[in-house]
Amino acid sequence: MALIVVGTMAYDAIETPFGKTDKIVGGSATYVAYAASNFVTPVQQISIVGNDFDEAIMADLKARGVMTEGVVRVKDKPSFFWSGRYHMDMNSRDTLVTDLNVLADFDPHVPEAYQGADFLMLGNLMPKLQMQVIDEMRVRPKLIVLDTMNFWMDIAMDDLKAVLKKVDVLMVNDSEARQLTGEYSIVKAAKTILTMGPKYLIIKKGEHGALLFHENHVFYAPALPLEDVFDPTGAGDTFAGGFMGHLAKTKDISFNNMKTAIIVGSAMASFCVEKFGPERLQEITRADIDNRIQEFVNLVQFDIDLV
Ligand code: AMP
Repeated sequence: MALIVVGTMAYDAIETPFGKTDKIVGGSATYVAYAASNFVTPVQQISIVGNDFDEAIMADLKARGVMTEGVVRVKDKPSFFWSGRYHMDMNSRDTLVTDLNVLADFDPHVPEAYQGADFLMLGNLMPKLQMQVIDEMRVRPKLIVLDTMNFWMDIAMDDLKAVLKKVDVLMVNDSEARQLTGEYSIVKAAKTILTMGPKYLIIKKGEHGALLFHENHVFYAPALPLEDVFDPTGAGDTFAGGFMGHLAKTKDISFNNMKTAIIVGSAMASFCVEKFGPERLQEITRADIDNRIQEFVNLVQFDIDLV
């Protein structure tokens, strides 16, 4: 069951209270692909990179079952670059630099070999380009999931609202849900978002887990309490990769299976934050993932007798 992933493949410079990196590999589609390819192949990547992007990363992704036919390489420009600084609590960050570079003239197309994919993950990217990919699909995928961030709400809110009408699931963090709706209450914001297009909404709350909304139902998945969160960059995209990977693997897009999928997403995100960049995702094994998912089961499972 194929999964198309659209988004950035980038370089990031990250500052946390525990350390600092110069330029390391990042990007929304990079993290989604690393996470999702543990569950489903092929992952069909649509992105753009510059002349600086490390061939070894591309080769590593290919070896994991990621198709890169839809990744454009530009010879005379650098890749998208993002730099951010995290605060002590690691739940909030400031964007220091967003250099679009190759992204400024990205014109994404769906390669012929990707047509017919059942799952489409629209990772963080210009909303207009997310729309362009939906419009290029000859058959609408069974499930379209969209991730976005404050940056695009600030400069392209109308385009974002237009593409929201075409997706099944929206993933945002709590501050983005507030910015999108003007509602402070997360529950009120969720109700409003569910009238804007998506039938399902996932609100990520960092170390406080994630909420899944659908009609009048709410489901909560915790984040694993970790002693050290080293670098939260990419945790949202890694969550998205685990979520989509599980749904594509099981071919079941019911609300009930989405509950399991957000646990899988949370488990994958918990690895991502253990090291800088995608490093931890590159080293984990299937057994590590299974053990981590079991830790989540143990964390929330309890019996109760109501008398
Ligand atoms: P996350 O921590 O999951 O929100 O995602 C972080 C990743 O998103 C980083 O690796 C960045 O390269 C990438 N990123 C940052 N800003 C943007 C943006 N405006 N559009 C697309 N990708 C971005």
